Order: sequence, then structure tokens, then C-alpha cells
Amino acid sequence: MGRMTTGVRAVMEAVQNLINGRWVAAESGNTFEIRNPADRNEIVGRAPDSSAADVDAAVRAARAAFPAWAATPAPKRGEILYRAAELLVRHKTRLGVLVAREMGKVMPEALGDVQEAIDMTYYMASEGRRLSGETVPSELPNKDAKSIRVPIGVFGLITPWNFPIAIPSWKITPALIAGNTVVLKPAEEAPICAAQFVAVLQEAGLPPGVLNLVCGFGAQAGEPLVCHPEVDAVSFTGSYAVGAHLAILAAERHKHFAMETGGKNPIIVMDDADLDLAVSGALWGGFGTSGQRCTAASRLIVHEAIHDRFVARLIGGARRLKLGNAQDPASEIGPVVSAAQYQKVLDYIEIGRREGATLACGGAGYQEGACADGYFISPTIFTDVQPTMRIAQEEIFGPVVCILKTSNLSEAIRMANDTAFGLSAAIYTQNANAAAIAERDLDAGLVYINASTIGAEIQMPFGGTRRTGLGPREAGGRGGALDLYTKWKVIYRDFSGQLQKAQITPPTA
Ligand code: NAD
Repeated sequence: MGRMTTGVRAVMEAVQNLINGRWVAAESGNTFEIRNPADRNEIVGRAPDSSAADVDAAVRAARAAFPAWAATPAPKRGEILYRAAELLVRHKTRLGVLVAREMGKVMPEALGDVQEAIDMTYYMASEGRRLSGETVPSELPNKDAKSIRVPIGVFGLITPWNFPIAIPSWKITPALIAGNTVVLKPAEEAPICAAQFVAVLQEAGLPPGVLNLVCGFGAQAGEPLVCHPEVDAVSFTGSYAVGAHLAILAAERHKHFAMETGGKNPIIVMDDADLDLAVSGALWGGFGTSGQRCTAASRLIVHEAIHDRFVARLIGGARRLKLGNAQDPASEIGPVVSAAQYQKVLDYIEIGRREGATLACGGAGYQEGACADGYFISPTIFTDVQPTMRIAQEEIFGPVVCILKTSNLSEAIRMANDTAFGLSAAIYTQNANAAAIAERDLDAGLVYINASTIGAEIQMPFGGTRRTGLGPREAGGRGGALDLYTKWKVIYRDFSGQLQKAQITPPTA
């Protein structure tokens, strides 16, 4: 990219860490700057560049706050989350603008990011009156058996930048409703959004130390959080490489650990698909959020009978997408998040060319007009992609879509399942049997029929198979986040007044 065209301007104030209910600078006093990826002249704000000392203070505050918070009745914890959800509704537009400025997604998506946090906060507030376990019959008389959910303790939460308010909400609200205390280390690309979300929760009435925020970089602030002896559990969302590294650190320290990482999500388009619907789903899945969703549709597996017609329409649609600053209502596609991401995506485009795929559309940065100073990349489509190519296997996390050709459903499903990741998968077909077979055989955490790979709802568990996910799922209730943020305690109560031996004492009449 070239030199910047206009003078630098600052639009936001600095944020701070939240430790034990107080907003404080990093002990070192160091900060780092966040710029708008759509316009590098705009400084969005500054955040503390924290280190192990700040993490230690935050973890100690969370540890001290844990007994009282765990003892607070869950419905009372829920009341605070309800208040937070109401505040989020009130602050939705302000937070949406901040999402757009800090990480660049276009306004409708930025508002959707905040709405997801609102939905999750209301939903988890309501879990305060459920959080149920099981009561089952004992095999012995005058004895009962039940299981209850109990909090795990101090949670270290590490989040990525692509859903800078929604993903912190996915982790913080179930952790809190379950009675855990929290230290959040948000992504260095979007700490201001995370800080504003934390500020709303704090304003809703959380006691000091229950929720703490430490901003900074992965190695300096994230890793000390994972390794801190007073942290009982870690929930990570981000890249597979970092997640795999942290999984080992956590296992060595015997911590609860869950991770959700990358995707290489396929859409199968069969010869009987509604082509307009499939094209619109592929455009939304491939280029929405500039392809920076873990559920982005980065592979399209297209039946040979409709391949050329589908590709022509897709290219037409991709060329019509309007790139622009997130806050311009006409913009449909924003920038990618950073210089590093920009370079990584361009490198993958070069890899695709060298591997022999056909560049059918896009393939370069886009710095026309109002996009001059942003990390914009034209929507890019590769055809003639072979399943073994790196661009068909590795997560690019940018506006790049690979098209593979197939001649039948079983081959398409084999191709769909043939990557290291298994987050989301979709099929477009009018054939009920083909849809049922795909539903059964696609190995992914989320399967969509006649819908794109993106569009998960918060009341269902979210996560993936193979290298995408490890540990219980995010979101949802039972079978999802509640399993991640609680541990089970089983209680047997014997009121027979006798020594009864399970599996041994014969039943009395
Ligand atoms: P990343 O792995 O670079 O960073 C994620 C977080 O980990 C950041 O907060 C970062 O500071 C921290 N981190 C980095 N190195 C660390 C270390 N050594 N110790 C502790 N923390 C460390 O990922 P990213 O670029 O922020 O996010 C993009 C990735 O996230 C993509 O792979 C995407 O698929 C994935 N993602 C997955 C989901 C999901 O639910 N499956 C959702 C959103 C994003």
C-alpha cells in the first residue's frame, strides 16, 4: 500500500484496564494505538499494553471476588445481566459505530455484532433461573441422587477481533451467570470495543473483581493469563496455531480448557439448486465481513452441470459489491482488519495463482477514492481449484472464495469433509433426500440446508469438529456454554439410617 493521503486525526479517548472495579493504566504506563482499518489516518484510541504484573493483579482480584459471587443466588446474578442487556440496547448505536471504526465491518454487521451481545446477555440472564442439573432414582431405598452445576472458579478468557463485542459476550455472560469470576484479554486489534462492553456490564452493578479486563498482546498478556496458577479455566477463541499452543500450556497445568478456532467452510451447490438463492448465499458467506468470519464460506463445491452458469452469476455479483468505509451506508464490504491481515490475504492470492488455480475475479488490493487509505481487497474468486491446493485447505480469513467442481453428491460431501477444520457446512438442493444425506454425512458443528454457512443463533451450541473445536461448545445452554462454564457435582443423600452398599446391598422389600 502507498503513503497515507491526509493528516492523522484522533476520534476516541484511551481505554484502561479494569482491575477490582477500578479503571487503571498498565503498571508500565505503556499503551498502544488502534487505527481504523478503513482509514489509517484515523486513530480510534489507545489501550494499555499490559504485562504479567497487570495480569497478576487482575487474577488476584478475580480470585478474591470468587467466593461471594459464587454464593450469590444465580437469579440475582441474572438480574445484573438483565440490567446490562437493557443498557446494551440503549448503547447499541454508539457501540455499533465503535465496532465499525475499530475493526472495519460495515454498519449493518457492526450493529448485528452488538445485537448478538444483547441477545446473549438476555439469554444468559434467563439461565439464572434454570442452571438445572438432574435428579434420578437411586438403586437403593431411602436414598436420592442428583447432579448440580457449580462454578469452576477464575476464568481466563481470550478473544479474537472479528466479533469484538459479540465474542466477549459469548464468554463473559455464561461464565458470570454460572458464578465464575473472569479476567478477559481481548484481541489487540479491538480492545476498545471489549472495554466498552465490559464498562456496560460494570455499570449494571457487578461487584468489584467479578469481571476484570487486561488489554494487550498475546505473548505478553495472554500467555501469563493462561499460565497463572490462580486461573482455573481458560476459554480461547482465535487461530488454530495459538489455540493448539495454549491447549498444551493448559494441559500441563491441569486447567479446564476449551477452544474454538478456524474454519474452511464449504457450500455444496447441487445441479437442482435454486441458483439465485445459492449465489446470494455464496456472496454473503464468502464476502460478508470481508471473509473474516470463522464460518465464512471459503469453498464452493459446485455441480459440473450448473458450474459455468453459477460461476458467471457469482462473478457478476462479486463485481457489483461496493467496497467502502464501514460507516458509509452505501458500503457493502469493509476492509480487512490490519496490515498483517492485508498482506496475508494477498500472499494467499499469490499462492493460489502459483498453484495453478484460475483467478476469475478480483485478486488485488483496492485503494480507489474513499478506500485510498484502508486495507481493502477486491472480492476474489478462484476457479479450477483442486482439493489438495493450499488455498482449498488453509484458512485465508479474507474475501477469497475457491470454487471446486464435483459430479455427484457423495464426492461433494467427501470434498467438504476433507480439510482439517469442521465448523460450518451448507448445501443448496431442492432434493429432500440429498438434503437429508448431507445433513447426516457433513462432518461439521453447524450444517445449513438452503442457507449460507453464516447465521448461527445464540440459543444453539456453537463450535466445530476436527481441529476447529476442543472442549464443550460455546453459546446455547445445556450441551453448550453451560457445560463449558460449570462443572458437575453429584450428591447422594442416604436417609435410610443404615449402611447401604451400592451394587452390593440386596434390595429390601
Ligand atoms: P489469534 O489467534 O491471532 O488471536 C486470538 C487471541 O489470542 C488474541 O486475543 C491474541 O492476543 C491472543 N494470543 C495470541 N497469541 C497468544 C499467546 N501466545 N498466548 C495467549 N494469547 C495469545 O486470532 P485472531 O487473528 O484474533 O482471530 C482470527 C481467528 O479466530 C481465525 O482463525 C478465526 O477462524 C478464529 N475465530 C474462531 C471462531 C470460532 O468460534 N470458531 C470465532 C471467531 C474467530
